[in-house]
Amino acid sequence: MGRHPNFPTPGGPVLRAKGWRQEALLRLLENVLSVGEDPERLVVYAALGKAARNWDAHAKIVEVLTTMDEDQTLVVQSGKPIGLLKTHKDAPLVVMANCNIVGQWAKAEVFYELERKGLICWGGLTAGAWQYIGSQGVIQGTYEIFMRIAERHFGGTLAGRFVLTAGLGGMGGSQPLAGTMAGAAILCVEVDRARAEMRQRIGYLQHITEDLDEALGLIGQAKHAGQAVSVGLVGNAADIYPEIARRGVVPDVVTDQTAAHDLVYGYVPATMTLDEARSLRGADNARLMAESRNSIVAHVRAMLDFKRQGSVVFDNGNLIRTHARDGGVEDAFTIPVFTEAYLRPLFCEAVGPFRWMALSGEPGDIRRIDDLVLELFPDNRIVTNWVRLARKHVPFEGLPARIAWLGHGDRTKLALAANDLVARGELAGPLAFSRDHLDAASMAHPNIMTENMADGSDAVADWPLLDAMVLCSSMADLVAIHSGGGGYAGFMTSAGVTLVADGSEDAARRLGYALTNDTSLGIMRYADAGYETAREAAREKDVGWLGL
Ligand code: NAD
Repeated sequence: MGRHPNFPTPGGPVLRAKGWRQEALLRLLENVLSVGEDPERLVVYAALGKAARNWDAHAKIVEVLTTMDEDQTLVVQSGKPIGLLKTHKDAPLVVMANCNIVGQWAKAEVFYELERKGLICWGGLTAGAWQYIGSQGVIQGTYEIFMRIAERHFGGTLAGRFVLTAGLGGMGGSQPLAGTMAGAAILCVEVDRARAEMRQRIGYLQHITEDLDEALGLIGQAKHAGQAVSVGLVGNAADIYPEIARRGVVPDVVTDQTAAHDLVYGYVPATMTLDEARSLRGADNARLMAESRNSIVAHVRAMLDFKRQGSVVFDNGNLIRTHARDGGVEDAFTIPVFTEAYLRPLFCEAVGPFRWMALSGEPGDIRRIDDLVLELFPDNRIVTNWVRLARKHVPFEGLPARIAWLGHGDRTKLALAANDLVARGELAGPLAFSRDHLDAASMAHPNIMTENMADGSDAVADWPLLDAMVLCSSMADLVAIHSGGGGYAGFMTSAGVTLVADGSEDAARRLGYALTNDTSLGIMRYADAGYETAREAAREKDVGWLGL
């Protein structure tokens, strides 16, 4: 189901485009809006991450996808379709570059000005590349972080543990469900009641309250009984975190997933209401940036307070430490980032957030692939555990989809087997495969993905650029290069890829080359940085690393 009446989820057997490859990309574009946060403004998630530059650009993209031939390539620049080139049927159907600003100019203020002039748009990681699948896209990542914390600090479970976090937006909305799946009593502070209600409606969040006492009461009872519960507290995290600390309540785990990266369109300062903040956006960005930064200082100071008192505290990839440090919190970076702290060993083997979508719109197709995953990888504990949990607990949003952290070789194996199912008519329609941009080869982000790399190569952005070129050479259907927008300007570059499994032999070739080469480069990136696990994987799996 879609969330917005004007933005229905696509599906069904009838093609509007000339082939399934083009139709697939059209449906994925429709899907990101159907599960997006504010589709009327083309905003999908991450404060200002957009599906297209503006509505004219959107209409032209739809027209081209509907009418283009398989031997053509659509070129998209920051959400605006620029040209349709004659290529060949093994070339990508769509190539795009979103929000890439030359080094010295890659600053939030320049981004806002370019966006205001209509010259650029922030594609998020998966919004502009039409790969977003709602909060379910990040839920396994969030769950795996919670489980790594459970294993490292709490004997393997978060039952009887209090997790404090904030932000119930597109990505942050996964936290209450991931938290309860890990057994925790999780409190999510959210300034916008409508966002909390949305998460409750789709089954991700259990309770909503505006009262801190009531929230802490619900959490305390569940913690005591060792029961999982999720509570959304409507309030500002920069007020609530310090207040909880002041009361001497110490959560077991603390993080935050407000859109803190964007001081104008994302984070809401504690000194104003949500409506006041909204009315200042575009009108007084300087004031919003200053006040958001001040609030983030209070917010992060409380996180540090909890850390000193024994909470496990981590940064969840939203630049909150960076803004706090800029605001004078010198020890902000004593809080570790989730990637380095919990996920890097997986990235060393190119295990990362792989995903597939049922273009038919039929949930049965995803259930069939769930079975396939369990058949193909019975010994992969992370994935089998996840698929069993997900099929029970994670409701579909928009096109039925699943995410699973699979690595080199396994992604290709699954996609080829799924393509065979499509060919044999065992699914209601083709599938699309993609992955998050936060993956081994495809992201340089020195404050999230590549913080504290073993060889100091944190800020080297060659890897995602190489990845995108490798993916084009490997015949992927859509290839995107993104850089940061809003507060992320100058902080990141990433590459995205989408592949369509329409059951054809051509699709099998594309899936085989693109998925294998993407993860090969991922292993090489970490092997090159000196990680022994990656070097072993490179040798064992013979990924083509030259080993220099
Ligand atoms: P979003 O814009 O959809 O939602 C952000 C939410 O934070 C909104 O609901 C907003 O009302 C709320 N909020 C803002 N200021 C607040 C405050 N002071 N107190 C309480 N609530 C407040 O963003 P999103 O897509 O959920 O992403 C959240 C952050 O996570 C972004 O910075 C994003 O870039 C980052 N992110 C992390 C990962 C990851 O893998 N960890 C993945 C994607 C995005």
